[in-house]
Amino acid sequence: MPRPFRQMPPHGGTLIDRVLRGELREAALERARTLPKIYLDRVRVSDLELIAVGAYSPLTGFMNAETYETVVEDMRLPNGLAWTIPIVLPVEKEVADGLRVGQEVALVERTETGADHIMGILELAEKFEYDKAREAKKVYRTTEDKHPGVARVYRQGDVYLAGDIWLLNRPSKIEFPELRHDPAETRRMFAARGWRRVVAFQTRNPIHRAHEYIQKVALEIVDGLFLHPLVGETKKDDIPADVRIKSYQAILRDYYPPDRVLLGVFPAAMRYAGPREAVFHAICRQNYGCTHMIIGRDHAGVGNYYGTYDAHYIFDEFLPHELAIQPLFFEHAFYCTKCQAVTTRKTCPHDEKYHIYLSGTQVRKMLEEGIPLPEEFTRPEVSRILMEAVQERKRQEAAAGK
Ligand SMILES: [Zn+2]
Repeated sequence: MPRPFRQMPPHGGTLIDRVLRGELREAALERARTLPKIYLDRVRVSDLELIAVGAYSPLTGFMNAETYETVVEDMRLPNGLAWTIPIVLPVEKEVADGLRVGQEVALVERTETGADHIMGILELAEKFEYDKAREAKKVYRTTEDKHPGVARVYRQGDVYLAGDIWLLNRPSKIEFPELRHDPAETRRMFAARGWRRVVAFQTRNPIHRAHEYIQKVALEIVDGLFLHPLVGETKKDDIPADVRIKSYQAILRDYYPPDRVLLGVFPAAMRYAGPREAVFHAICRQNYGCTHMIIGRDHAGVGNYYGTYDAHYIFDEFLPHELAIQPLFFEHAFYCTKCQAVTTRKTCPHDEKYHIYLSGTQVRKMLEEGIPLPEEFTRPEVSRILMEAVQERKRQEAAAGK
């Protein structure tokens, strides 16, 4: 039996559970069929589920105007609790005009075959208009529509619907069901393993040796590592989630002690909000039961929109007691041929010419040209999986005559 210990409390103190089950769910489903429908985009499909399972605790629904205002302006909920990303439900004005405050609305996903899949119910409490450029500037630190997160804000409807939600059904398509653990479940799993201190690692990329180094340095000072790759909507040029998962499983099998690591997928959408998203990711991982969170350089960044250390500095805008989860800040790591080890600028004194480091673009180019990645950069098990995936895609594109 693991020794008794107190687990990290959720953000705000209570793990939110807005999942309806059994007869309550049956009755709500029956009712939902007669309610006006709102169709959810992929971001909102994932937000709805993550609110319901408590990953966004203490949120119980989509934000109202007051909450939206304090989050955008001050990175806090109206009660003062830290919160950096607006969680909102945008709809077109005509859709909003057809709805009455106080009524229930069915939240519906349109499946790949075009069928309606009722996911939940919104207790519509408020509708409000918002300033897209201001949201872009404050949350994403740019108003440029080339930024994928900003582009999404500009594309979406002009009115936000607010209110508490209930989840009746999970999304229609569940990828990696065996790796999907709700916060209540990861908390049980951590406790069963006797992990009091757990470090989360968020990624949307394959694990090269630099990431392995950072994870293991962090793991040296805690009990367990929660490898929590994001598998929600990402950019088209990010490596597909199934390839990444395969590469994680390969590296975990061969290079990590199995009783110290848990792999789970985080079904959130990337917002590419850089610093603000780093804090958001940390809060979510606290809800999953983690006590520490690895924050690399340019966490959740895209292009050149954020400074190298902005995702670290933003944590200084909160007092220590505001964020219970402890961020662990890391530099870029690389293999140094003089040190003969993976290292960082913090610990290696040698000139750059001794360092083996490849950019994402270089990695992509080598894989496309069929050149294996150097072993000092990527474990061969991972390299092979990435190579196969890239070459397979090339074959398919050639066959499609592109
Ligand atoms: Zn060195």
